[in-house]
Amino acid sequence: MQAPTRPTSLPNKPMFFLGAKKSERMSNMDRYVIESAHTAGDCDKAVKEIALAGFLHQFEWGCEDGVHSAWAIIEAENREHARQIVPWMMRDKARIVKLVKFEQADPLHKNRSE
Ligand SMILES: [Zn+2]
Repeated sequence: MQAPTRPTSLPNKPMFFLGAKKSERMSNMDRYVIESAHTAGDCDKAVKEIALAGFLHQFEWGCEDGVHSAWAIIEAENREHARQIVPWMMRDKARIVKLVKFEQADPLHKNRSE
């Protein structure tokens, strides 16, 4: 007998936080860089939205150098989880790039193309 009064469409916590609690599964997490652009006039709004989402300390900003973007490097289970940390109004424009480290100077790009 529960009567939910809150809308369920906007989860407060992205799923990668839930996943991160399973420390033995950390090897399943990939690293992603999130690039979220905004216009010069939207700096305050962008900062507030990310602060409201609870990720202000994750992001670094290019605004004072004239590049109105914010970047964060996070661990997530997949690209969609990574995307969820971007406030929805900026999500469409966000670029999510999976990061890898190469162990040697001659990376195995060609062998890993599939
Ligand atoms: Zn800005």
